[in-house]
Amino acid sequence: MRVIVIGAGLGGLTLAQGLRRAGIDVAVYERDDALGRAQGVSLHVDDRGANALRACLPSAHAAMVEATMGGPREQTVALAEADGALTVVGAQPSDGVAGRARPGRQVHRPLLRAVLLTGLEDVVRFGAEFTRFEQRADGTVRAWFADGSTDTADVLVGADGIGSAVRRQYLPHARVVDTGRRMLMGATALRAVTDTGLPELIGHSPAGMRVGDTMMVVGVLRFTESPMAARQRWLPALPLGAVAGVEDYAMWALPITRERIGSAGPWHRAKELIADLPSAMRLVVAETWPDLTVALRGGTIPPIPAWPAGPVTVLGDAIHLAPGFGGNLAMQDAHHLREALVETYHGRLELIDAIGTYENTMRRNSFPAPVPATAGA
Ligand SMILES: Cc1cc2nc3c(=O)[nH]c(=O)nc-3n(C[C@H](O)[C@H](O)[C@H](O)COP(=O)(O)OP(=O)(O)OC[C@H]3O[C@@H](n4cnc5c(N)ncnc54)[C@H](O)[C@@H]3O)c2cc1C
Repeated sequence: MRVIVIGAGLGGLTLAQGLRRAGIDVAVYERDDALGRAQGVSLHVDDRGANALRACLPSAHAAMVEATMGGPREQTVALAEADGALTVVGAQPSDGVAGRARPGRQVHRPLLRAVLLTGLEDVVRFGAEFTRFEQRADGTVRAWFADGSTDTADVLVGADGIGSAVRRQYLPHARVVDTGRRMLMGATALRAVTDTGLPELIGHSPAGMRVGDTMMVVGVLRFTESPMAARQRWLPALPLGAVAGVEDYAMWALPITRERIGSAGPWHRAKELIADLPSAMRLVVAETWPDLTVALRGGTIPPIPAWPAGPVTVLGDAIHLAPGFGGNLAMQDAHHLREALVETYHGRLELIDAIGTYENTMRRNSFPAPVPATAGA
């Protein structure tokens, strides 16, 4: 069996690692070059992502990720200023209920990506933009790329994110809708804000503070084991550049609306918005690494009715968007698709049944509300 994965993001690489580990022939095509684009600094990984990584990665890779996670995040605390000092005034459990995050731990995203790429050097082709596919009479799928090259496999997986070209051709009625929500985000060296007492006050928990119309959330990633030492212990094959100079940091986020985003650029706008927050919070933004400050656009893909399974499928942001936990869903999809394809590889399940099983699970887990199946699906 041969599988083509479009997109070397969280879902595509988790799947490729899992397939390779099972002995299945896999090729990954990624539009960007090997450096990729900035996709956020840290990632909250909950049980879904952690289980997927444990199931799909070789054990040394999984141990490297685990060793370099931050401490447990089990609640979100509320901050207020009392007598000129920042104080914790409440806490909400991270229990996954009513849109709240599940418990989990932070990972440094560029480090996770580097771990996911380690060992796949001969599998991932960078600078290869997928353009379209063709289902062939013999049941295989041919993928076409912008440079005119093609590749053929038994399965084509669209793991190509929010703008998925695979989804556009395969499920054109699945559309991305702008929610109007925006998020300004950044990260700051922990050493630059330690003296404020804020990191000690919040521990490993994300903390939110509202003043007027502005809500700011701050969190901390303190590496449980230094990335450099963990590389030495668990994964010496990991490129040194993935761990050199990596230090503990605080990350911050300002959820706002499209109307309030302005045109000043994300860092300047963030500073304007938090002008009335306490000095400790303002320092986190003032000392931020400017290049890592981003403005994110909120989108959603309204669920579509179930479709008949075939040799083309999709996972992660290509088919569902979930603010705050889309990465976990993408890795969970990869885990479930890998399990289904392994069944086929060992002759225990027909290929199309395996893909159908995966897609049913994916829709159940990731579509916000059940939708009726179309006739024949
Ligand atoms: C700042 C930020 C913070 C976030 N924080 C969290 C968090 O804490 N927890 C969480 O769970 N999620 C988080 N997310 C969401 C998470 O990043 C996404 O849900 C996740 O990356 C989706 O994974 P994916 O594999 O589906 O797609 P992606 O990771 O987006 O990967 C898609 C890949 O496909 C490639 N591609 C696209 N088109 C083509 C093409 N035509 N040909 C070839 N390749 C193509 C892209 O270059 C990309 O590398 C965050 C996102 C951002 C931006």
